[in-house]
Amino acid sequence: MQSQKYWRIKKIMNKKVDGITLGCRLNFYETEVLKSCFRNSSREQDVIIVNTCSVTHEAERQSKQAVRKCLKENPNARVIVTGCAVETSKDYFSQLPVEVMRNEKKTSMLREFDDKTFADRARAFVQIQNGCDHYCSYCIIPFTRGHSVSVPLEVIERNIKNFVNSGFKEIVLSGIDITSYGREIGKGLANVLEHIFKRIPELTRIRISSLDPAAIDDKLLHIICHDYRILPHIHLSIQSGDNNILKMMRRRHLREDVIALCNKIRNFRSDIVFGADFIVGFPGETEEMFKNTVALVDDAGLSMLHVFPFSPRAGTRAAQFVQLPHNIVHARAKELRNVANTALENTLNRFIGTSVNFIVEHDECGKTDHFLHAKFNDKTLEVGNVYHGKVHDIIDNVLILNVEQ
Ligand code: SF4
Repeated sequence: MQSQKYWRIKKIMNKKVDGITLGCRLNFYETEVLKSCFRNSSREQDVIIVNTCSVTHEAERQSKQAVRKCLKENPNARVIVTGCAVETSKDYFSQLPVEVMRNEKKTSMLREFDDKTFADRARAFVQIQNGCDHYCSYCIIPFTRGHSVSVPLEVIERNIKNFVNSGFKEIVLSGIDITSYGREIGKGLANVLEHIFKRIPELTRIRISSLDPAAIDDKLLHIICHDYRILPHIHLSIQSGDNNILKMMRRRHLREDVIALCNKIRNFRSDIVFGADFIVGFPGETEEMFKNTVALVDDAGLSMLHVFPFSPRAGTRAAQFVQLPHNIVHARAKELRNVANTALENTLNRFIGTSVNFIVEHDECGKTDHFLHAKFNDKTLEVGNVYHGKVHDIIDNVLILNVEQ
């Protein structure tokens, strides 16, 4: 799952066109593209695009809250609401003084994508796939985004080339379920990577967004293990460390598969950092099952976790299951987040005294190749460029670097 995890609200600045993104990285990418579309078409009035998410009940609640807050803070703006929550709560949004943009319209606008509008970002997001065929029992995405559809290789190539030609050093391949890439055209994610490597040799930094452990084939695994243009941070959609819960979730991997996968990659790239999504408090999750999830963090050597307390999403199978009490769900989320914090601290400590590459994101902040937050004391470094630094401290889970020339 490309997942609910990265939801964030971007502070509205005093700009003509701005965006608020909830939900997955694909939504983040789409908001950027929509902003560029509106930038080209509207200067008369401030435009704010709210790209919503409905992956869980909580995500939908937060989407509604974000729209209300946006209206309150920007009473004179043209507020356009789009995304998955619009599909699941049409009636709610159509009563508000906003323009509702259904996913179909959003998709058609996204086709007219002008890549040159990402100049204020450190990296560029390229969508290679949309939708999902899996119907995990907790997830509404297949109902709101439809079946998996792959972007043709030549379109991906053209979009990346445009970004690279306009100076971007780092590309993120995005989608809802990118390991399903190309199923309908007899190709796979490995083909996308091979194609990019061959046709755009000047691109040396690729991130791949969330991967489904069950769908990483040998060819893809080989590329991840051996091609260092794939940056050393892999994010996995794991969701649970208990096999019974994974089955109830209709996931297609076992906890043993995750451990084996992480070990295989680590055999070739010992420094690699693994991120993962987890849902805790899924219906039927006993204390023992939850402990299996906690244990998986160490067993698989995971470093960066996104932890979500389960909340039922109307229209999904899991919403019909008997739910756990709210307090148990939230206590487990808290416990796993504490475990996650320790795992992250241990990972950060590994880098003390080492030299790392980092890309500048803004105001003396950036991310290392391993996708760890970094700070440095040099205002002259350019956003989107890659530099070296030596890690001399860690403050609030951020690596503090001395820039090396
Ligand atoms: S159905 Fe499963 S694989 Fe598909 S987007 Fe949802 S969680 Fe991810």
